[in-house]
Amino acid sequence: MSGIAFSEPLVELHGISKHFGESDTRVDALVDVTMSIYPQEVVGLVGPSGSGKTTLLNVIGCVTEPSAGRMRLNGEAIYDHRWLRRDLRRLRLEKIGFIFQTHNLLPFLTGRENVMEVMELAGVSSVDAGRRAGDLLDYLQVGHRQDAMPAQLSGGEAQRVAIARALANSPRIVLADEPTAPLDSARAAVVMDLLRRIAIDREAAIIVVTHDESIFNRFDRIFRLRDGRLVSVDRNRSAETIATVLANVPRTVIRGDS
Ligand code: ADP
Ligand code: MG
Repeated sequence: MSGIAFSEPLVELHGISKHFGESDTRVDALVDVTMSIYPQEVVGLVGPSGSGKTTLLNVIGCVTEPSAGRMRLNGEAIYDHRWLRRDLRRLRLEKIGFIFQTHNLLPFLTGRENVMEVMELAGVSSVDAGRRAGDLLDYLQVGHRQDAMPAQLSGGEAQRVAIARALANSPRIVLADEPTAPLDSARAAVVMDLLRRIAIDREAAIIVVTHDESIFNRFDRIFRLRDGRLVSVDRNRSAETIATVLANVPRTVIRGDS
């Protein structure tokens, strides 16, 4: 058996609801969502526009406060009808990586400095941050471009640097909102390969919001939302087999701890 089935979930939602506004203007963005996501999983979050995908990603990322329910991240209770931690900003910085559709690199810093900045915010010395940022950019095969400014990078290179930024503090929960949207299908496949490798090497859970049907076969499971409700969960047997096989390959790359 693979380790996937027996490990503790990294993300656990129980009866999570979120509404915006009250009475006449009330919108139920999420209704009673229960789901668990495990280490080494790459899952898709799909559904029509307005179905609650971004809201769900933002709840898991502790950016948006739910209206009801319970949430555990990394085995720790984070929300139980209220936030259970005061330092949500620190939690986000250290435990969660965000990858956005358009890379959110700071234009006046080099690629390496963009990655270092996130490490330094978490208290890493600049010497260590410089070394680790270089290693991480090498791992993402964009180390040769580390001194370039974001405007000098190709779309695929900028997205890899943005992924490095998301991984800077070795989060085991990585959230991506349409990460392949600006890329052609070959580059999208490269990004999905990378996310798969990160999931395995770092025993991370990767949650990807997408409309891009060409990458649906890359997910272990696909969660479908409609009107804020989780309407189905499809398991992709072939992806699971790939994950299981790859999980047994000796790990020769850095695991991101230091
Ligand atoms: P998706 O990402 O699937 O397109 P969203 O999560 O962005 O959907 O939105 C789900 C619903 O919640 C939509 O009806 C949207 O208009 C509403 N919504 C999202 N964010 C807000 C907000 N900050 N204030 C009010 N309504 C919101
Ligand atoms: Mg959205």
